[in-house]
Amino acid sequence: MTDQLHFETLAIHAGQQPDPATGAVMTPIYQTSTFVQDGVGDHKGYEYARTGNPTRTALEACLAALEGASHGLCFASGMAAIDTLLKLIKPGQHVLAADDVYGGTYRLFVRVLSDYGLQFDFVDMADLKAVAAAIKPNTRLIWVETPTNPHLKIIDLAALAEIGRAHNLQVAVDNTFASPYLQQPISLGADFVIHSTTKYIGGHSDVIGGAILTNDAAAYERLKFLQNTIGAVPGPMDCFLTLRGIKTLPLRMERHSTNAQKIAEFLADHPGVKKVMYPGLSDHPNHAVAKKQMRLFGGMISFLPVGDAATAKRIVERTKIFALAESLGGVESLIELPAPMTHASVAGSLLEVDPTLIRLSVGIENVDDLIADLQQALSGK
Ligand SMILES: *Cc1c(COP(=O)(O)O)cnc(C)c1O
Repeated sequence: MTDQLHFETLAIHAGQQPDPATGAVMTPIYQTSTFVQDGVGDHKGYEYARTGNPTRTALEACLAALEGASHGLCFASGMAAIDTLLKLIKPGQHVLAADDVYGGTYRLFVRVLSDYGLQFDFVDMADLKAVAAAIKPNTRLIWVETPTNPHLKIIDLAALAEIGRAHNLQVAVDNTFASPYLQQPISLGADFVIHSTTKYIGGHSDVIGGAILTNDAAAYERLKFLQNTIGAVPGPMDCFLTLRGIKTLPLRMERHSTNAQKIAEFLADHPGVKKVMYPGLSDHPNHAVAKKQMRLFGGMISFLPVGDAATAKRIVERTKIFALAESLGGVESLIELPAPMTHASVAGSLLEVDPTLIRLSVGIENVDDLIADLQQALSGK
């Protein structure tokens, strides 16, 4: 039935029915570790809550529907989802990753999984020729994020999936920055979508979580086995909070995007700003690709102020509504300096970030208040 429904309807209903026992409209928080069996092996689909929990099942089904996938699996964090997906790759095999990946992903690939014999290379995937040239005989997976963090580069997912198919490789897309409302990688040819549901999907900065969505039934069976075997699963309360957040995802993404567009235009015109990175600006190098594959351009903006690292530090410490904090995707606006904060773990690596770069996670407050706040922070008075 859910196939014909629109995204906004799926966000509220997919995977969820009124509770059969009580009629509760919202999926209950099944706060239990185990489930009684009527006879040995005779149960209602649940035995032990690491293996499966009904609140988690509802979230997994809802996220799968939103990404246009047949299968979903949820995890205790975005990193747990990424680590579990990478367990599909064996020692001696090679992963080609974008050069602008999330810092925690880079750290996992280079400082943990490399010790177990997995091989990684990082290329600028906005350059599709460079991607094709970097594929090796033992490459098994292409790993990409778009928009990227913190440079807001846009990578052409349909073209990347084409390269993957031509070389018989699978493509995994970390869709955290866009959310499924703005971009659906599986419909563009990707094999796996990964989320940190901590960000836009949860949307209220009150829960950590991750997910993998796929149409590949064989990979799903293996990933489900890994989910149960490794055990990095989210608790039912976390699943409930995430499901609750998802119901307003379309409304929030609309407001995040319209607010961010106005703020990006304000910053682009400001004499104290050298460069603005936002895919919704017509001078963004991949604006055309963004327009083709995204519904709107999202809530993340990066910019370089005129001045040095001390200037940038003063600006981020001077905002009053934009809170100085890591993370992103919540209803409240955040500001940060990636170099010493979110991207500190990649200092000295090829992912190193300009120390003056400022990143905004634009919230859903009134945009005039947000612009006034940035105006006073940039004016330095
Ligand atoms: C936050 C984030 C992650 C990691 O997710 P956690 O929930 O913090 O473990 C992965 N990818 C991207 C793009 C992120 O922003």
